Amino acid sequence: MSEPSLRELSKWLTSATHPVHGFLYVSTFFRILSLSLDILLFGLAAGGVALIALGGGDAGNLLVWLILIAVLKAICYYGEQLTGHYVAFKALELLRTKAFAQLWPKAPAIVNQSRSGDVLASLTRDVDRIEVVYAHTFAPLVSAIVVPPAFLLGAGVLVGWSVVIIPAICVMLGLFIVPFIGLRRSMLVTRRTLRLRRELTHHVTDSIFGTEEVVGYGRVDERLAEMDRIGSRIAESACVARAGNAIRRASNTVLSLAAVIGAVYGARQASLSIPLTAALAAGTLRLFEGPRGIEDAAGYLDHSLAAARRLWNISTSPEIVEDGQEVYAPSCPPSIEFAGVSYAYPTGAFSLKDVSFTVAAGEHIAIVGPSGSGKSTAVSMLLRYDNPTAGQILVDDMPIQRYTVDSLRHAVVLVSQRCQLLNASIRENVNLGVPEAGEEEIWEVLETVCLADEVRSMPKSLDTSVGQSGSRLSGGQAQRLCLARALLMRPRVLVLDEFAANLNRRLEDSIRRNLAKKIPGVTVIEITHRLESARAADRVLLMDRGMLVASGSPVGIEESDGMLADFFHRNV
Ligand code: ADP
Ligand code: MG
Repeated sequence: MSEPSLRELSKWLTSATHPVHGFLYVSTFFRILSLSLDILLFGLAAGGVALIALGGGDAGNLLVWLILIAVLKAICYYGEQLTGHYVAFKALELLRTKAFAQLWPKAPAIVNQSRSGDVLASLTRDVDRIEVVYAHTFAPLVSAIVVPPAFLLGAGVLVGWSVVIIPAICVMLGLFIVPFIGLRRSMLVTRRTLRLRRELTHHVTDSIFGTEEVVGYGRVDERLAEMDRIGSRIAESACVARAGNAIRRASNTVLSLAAVIGAVYGARQASLSIPLTAALAAGTLRLFEGPRGIEDAAGYLDHSLAAARRLWNISTSPEIVEDGQEVYAPSCPPSIEFAGVSYAYPTGAFSLKDVSFTVAAGEHIAIVGPSGSGKSTAVSMLLRYDNPTAGQILVDDMPIQRYTVDSLRHAVVLVSQRCQLLNASIRENVNLGVPEAGEEEIWEVLETVCLADEVRSMPKSLDTSVGQSGSRLSGGQAQRLCLARALLMRPRVLVLDEFAANLNRRLEDSIRRNLAKKIPGVTVIEITHRLESARAADRVLLMDRGMLVASGSPVGIEESDGMLADFFHRNV
């Protein structure tokens, strides 16, 4: 994917955070005031003390002024922090919402296509890094460009240009040269650092989700060593950016001292009074709060920009499937037609090759075939997880792209092979697609899938937690729960991908009987490995290496088609 230009990136960011820009300006205004008062406070304090030491001035008066300015400065600082943080946290919310809104229409493909933890890392850590731009970049930058030059101009007019010339040069260097020292290099290595961090995230995510395998196969030490290796590469790479930070900080410190010396020298040359010289020296020292703010901002700008680029890439990747216009709400089970459907995953060879078949309204077909033959891919096309590379799919003679994805997935419901359960209660897992479903309906579908008695005997019944990825349930219970969840949606087309793989024959038969009795009006596409399961269907299709190679009646498979019979002979 092409990299966005800085302009594109800022446009994208600012279009999301537009509602808080007003507060950002208020925060900047407060920062300008606060920085100005800071310079005044130090100048006045130094000048006043010098005056009193020389026997002039009124200490009480000076004190009153100092307190007054200090209080004002505190109020401005408070205002800046309050509005600045409001902007920052609100920007977090706006950016996450925008990124999420751009991501979710691409689900589930976007998650399959990106590496583990990528989407999550972008939505969490990357957005956090971008927040820094709003909290710590804009206001410091603007106030640094406005305040020190304004004070230098004022001082130049009041006490003579020769006095301010050296401090002015130092400030200009601090503002316009120092922030760029090593910046390019640090931007480059920061990208590498972030890439390595991403690698670390994948590694840790995989290790944690694969804990059982890592421990079971005795790979703990290797995983830890690999983690250390990536960690040290990150430290090495981050070192370059830190060196840049250090050089910029050192340069600014040297410049601030040079500016003070220059101011004192200029004031002596111009024969200014001691108190005025002291005031100028102290004020000059504080002028460098401006450049220092930019220097800090430069320190994390590289991270923020790199993070923004990543988020931009993930969020603006092209929509995987376009939404249709029509709402699909069939009142009876539809017919389905695959017309010359081919499909290749972005990363691989063709997984489906010119697959054509029809399913009559209300028919129950079984798709069989060896592992990797494209069965799951075929049904994922029906749910529009992606568009076919060639050919099309029709539901009731209408191409499925015409329908809104949401309505299509409400009518055509998949019980997938890798059934995913949320770490929540049984109730929450069952009513995922129909959150408003009543308790009675939930029990009814649990009865249909023969799970009701088991749930009743659980300690908290429907409110029992299923654990991470359903770890507190057996494989068969998890599969039945996923089937119950699909049934609750009252689908018109039920797609079952190996739903009976973990069930014994008796349970499977009971569930089939219940299904036939309770939900007669559906078209069923069932993927299975079992001859017995296939026998429950009206027709069997055999797939092999992405192609549909045979079809026939399951009644007396031997007679219906030689290839089908051969498949079951070899595999079952
Ligand atoms: P089946 O369900 O018949 O076992 P699949 O439809 O899952 O087969 O897979 C068909 C082919 O597509 C296989 O070669 C598999 O490796 C490939 N495949 C499946 N899922 C993906 C994916 N997310 N990315 C790339 N290739 C995939
Ligand atoms: Mg499969």
